[in-house]
Amino acid sequence: MDNDLLQKIVALCKRRGFVYPGSEIYGGLGGTWDYGPAGVLLKKNIKDLWWKEMVQLRDDIVGVDAAIMMNPKAWEASGHVEAFSDPLVECKVCHQRFRADKADEIETHEESHKDTKVEWTDPQQFNLLVKAYLGVLEGKQSEIYLRGEITNGVHVNFKNVLDSTRIKIPFGIAQIGKAFRNEITPGNFTFRSREFEQMEVQFYIKPEKEEGEKWFEYWKQNRIDWYLSLGLKKENLRFRDHADDERAHYALAACDIEYNAPWGWSEFMGIHHRGDWDLSRHQKYSGQDLSYIDPETQEKYIPWDIETSAGVDRSALFFLIDAYSELEGRTLLKLHPKLAPYKAAVFPLLANKPELIEKAKSIYLDLKQDFMVAWDERGNIGKRYAAQDEIGTPMCITIDFQTLSDDAVTVRDRDTALQERIKISDLKDYINEKVNG
Ligand code: ATP
Repeated sequence: MDNDLLQKIVALCKRRGFVYPGSEIYGGLGGTWDYGPAGVLLKKNIKDLWWKEMVQLRDDIVGVDAAIMMNPKAWEASGHVEAFSDPLVECKVCHQRFRADKADEIETHEESHKDTKVEWTDPQQFNLLVKAYLGVLEGKQSEIYLRGEITNGVHVNFKNVLDSTRIKIPFGIAQIGKAFRNEITPGNFTFRSREFEQMEVQFYIKPEKEEGEKWFEYWKQNRIDWYLSLGLKKENLRFRDHADDERAHYALAACDIEYNAPWGWSEFMGIHHRGDWDLSRHQKYSGQDLSYIDPETQEKYIPWDIETSAGVDRSALFFLIDAYSELEGRTLLKLHPKLAPYKAAVFPLLANKPELIEKAKSIYLDLKQDFMVAWDERGNIGKRYAAQDEIGTPMCITIDFQTLSDDAVTVRDRDTALQERIKISDLKDYINEKVNG
């Protein structure tokens, strides 16, 4: 494992305000992470770009934002109460618990005991749903679950969405939101956390074999293309089809998109052909008719669902890892400008010259109307460049004495370190072209 790279990313994330350990001043809480000023912008950009691509630009997908807390029957219907579990084994030497199906973690742990032969307990199924209690009266509270995945909130609203929009099959429902899992072994930084965000589309189609195959292939390609369009290196992405014995019993097909992480190829997101499992189960458990009537043929059926399910945190982490570069003594994040927390940073050449500050502030305030822009007047220009490089700011704009006479600024490019002189009146178009062009 390239531990070194992961350690560098973890350190950079803390140093530059991307990600901090959760509840750090109290000694932390395992498997939780807090996003700082740069990290929250990165995550927001990922979610906004995803939403734009999935909902804004398409006529066949609409969005919902369902409650995290649901009637517990929904989790019985979806099979989570019974089967949302991982096999847990305990090391008899130190009593640490691991997932029996993660051979690399088991091996690394055995190696950590050096000369002692490690024995393991038999695997036990461990349910990953996080329980919570709802209600104000002690003893009269009802036990509920924090959602273990965001899918259920979509399926239970299938009928509501149909009845309140003009959408027709094939169509999708998109959602972004938090999920919670009592993960046995959180780790690899934010990769496996106990609280995380997902972005999903449940895409409902006619229950026909060819339709299923067509849309499954379509979504596989569509999703990998999206990550490539945001600059992920092609050689770091691959598909991995699930073997028959690996899939949930109801899944007609399943494929992961994997990323070549420092600790090995790892699941980034999944594309799952779930058949009519979810709607049929919710129909059965709720007693409500969740079928669809084709408006043209009057044919009545329970649609099939092709799901695309991606982690926001895993996306953020893999974008950071992929973008991390060391170049001629510089550390930089070559994030796609659309993902970069700040599109540009504005610097007055000197901090003690009011006329420079005034001019720089006016440019800064104007740019802020359209872009997320940073301001820095500390230290020398070299230090300011270094700080912006490390958070992936694509452009640094310096206001110098010449600006006062020629109304132009120096724009320095993050990746090439080349500088250009740009007229202030052209600056917004210039930034826009670099970000969206
Ligand atoms: P894994 O096998 O890695 O535990 P999974 O197959 O259980 O993942 P899914 O249930 O398919 O994952 O969830 C869909 C997506 O949600 C994953 O591809 C991942 O991006 C994200 N995700 C799942 N579990 C976690 C977690 N514990 N921490 C962060 N992201 C997660």
